[in-house]
Amino acid sequence: MRFDNSYARLPDRFYTRLHPTPVAAPGLIRVNDALARQLRIDPDWLTSAEGTAVIAGNRIPEGADPIATVYAGFQFGSWVPRLGDGRAILLGEVIGADGVRYDIQLKGCGRTPYSRSGDGRAPLGPVLREYIVSEAMAALGIPTSRVLAAVSSGEWVVRDGAEPGGVLVRVAQSHIRIGTFQFFSAQQDQDALRLLADHVIQRHFPDVAQAENPYRAMLDSVIAQQAELIASWQLVGFIHGVMNTDNMLVSGETIDYGPCAFMDAFDPAAVFSSIDHNGRYAYNNQPAIAHWNLAGLAQALLPLLDRDQHRALTMAQDSINTFPERFQNAYLQGISKKLGFAESTPDDQTLIDDLLTLMAEEKSDFTLTFRRLAELADAGQDTASNLGNLFELPDAFTPWLCRWHNRLASDPRDSLTRQADMLAVNPAFIARNHLVEEAIQAATSNRDFEPFHKLIDLLAAPYAYHPRHASYATPPRPEQQVRQTFCGT
Ligand code: AMP
Ligand code: MG
Repeated sequence: MRFDNSYARLPDRFYTRLHPTPVAAPGLIRVNDALARQLRIDPDWLTSAEGTAVIAGNRIPEGADPIATVYAGFQFGSWVPRLGDGRAILLGEVIGADGVRYDIQLKGCGRTPYSRSGDGRAPLGPVLREYIVSEAMAALGIPTSRVLAAVSSGEWVVRDGAEPGGVLVRVAQSHIRIGTFQFFSAQQDQDALRLLADHVIQRHFPDVAQAENPYRAMLDSVIAQQAELIASWQLVGFIHGVMNTDNMLVSGETIDYGPCAFMDAFDPAAVFSSIDHNGRYAYNNQPAIAHWNLAGLAQALLPLLDRDQHRALTMAQDSINTFPERFQNAYLQGISKKLGFAESTPDDQTLIDDLLTLMAEEKSDFTLTFRRLAELADAGQDTASNLGNLFELPDAFTPWLCRWHNRLASDPRDSLTRQADMLAVNPAFIARNHLVEEAIQAATSNRDFEPFHKLIDLLAAPYAYHPRHASYATPPRPEQQVRQTFCGT
């Protein structure tokens, strides 16, 4: 790994320099070959004893400058002035084959000054879960932190009972959170705020450096990216589960795969997280929560926006006010593509709303409904890629389908092209909760990692349906249904 550690060159008050705590007996579970190559890291080296020791935190690679970063955050709306990496350590940054800078971070690698009462460790279950779900998101084309590799630790961690432990290597364009800005804002440390903002601009938004007001332009860029990101979640039925401001990256990537889940049956009010009693982070609340979190970022940036705080406030408010429309545009564009409309027209809104109402009433599977529509978009559909008798839209959809077909008649593309475009944006496979749970169970109870590997391999091509893999596309039977998810910390 060729490191260049720009965050570690920021002043000491941004982090604590420390090493991971070695684990007893690292056992390699999986290396993400494609990602390794993208990061110009040799996958064979990662699978070697030396590479495995690095993944586990037992060996510090040359050029690394390990730090735990500090941040704050609003958790379920309550202010926590000091959080920070309590069980994660940033080894350093590498420049990928795409020229982009990436953080290489270990998660589950021991206590840090930010651990509070935590043990700094991660149970194997949540490690596997993050691997599966974040890689599934990446394959869907959704900006996200990635997993480069995972090991078992050969140690037990105590949660409800004793569970096997694990360490994972997380990769992201940075781990700078809205909560990182909020930490320095609450300290009234304007120098740090400016340094952090300059770092973020250089790293993520180099173009805005030329803007008349680069900090305002940075804020606008973050808002624009989050609007796109949340829209992409809504369009695949992804529920994050813990949208605290410390779990929102300014790089616009999804992070923190704790109690997250993809919906099976469509329910706009769906909540999975065992600790989200009021549905704060329910599916249909995600855009509003992102908006609220971004207001927190804007507030933290006030001193940088303008010397005149009244003007700064107006600017921040104007920027924040753009979020709902940006989200709506991104969502409308995405759902139009899913429904086979090359261009969206104002009349489409009713058609979309009526579909979602129907889906909710019929408790229709979110993923398969859209996939089936793609199949129905052309009469001479290819049967090899057909859901076949796995899933059919209920009769209640018939009048709506009629309206939809009429609407498709005004779409300029020929029906085969349109269908191909639809099949490329409506996945057949998502990381269904019951499959994720089965894979975790097999691994943690029977040391059988086969279902875990198979699921990851399959989810790498979510749009390529084949009946041979029908069991991965099938919604859970009632007894398989997962109703609650846990942070697993
Ligand atoms: P999360 O809910 O994963 O966003 O974590 C919130 C905060 O708790 C972060 O500062 C984490 O680093 C910290 N944390 C979570 N789990 C642990 C753990 N097992 N040991 C130490 N700190 C933890
Ligand atoms: Mg977190």
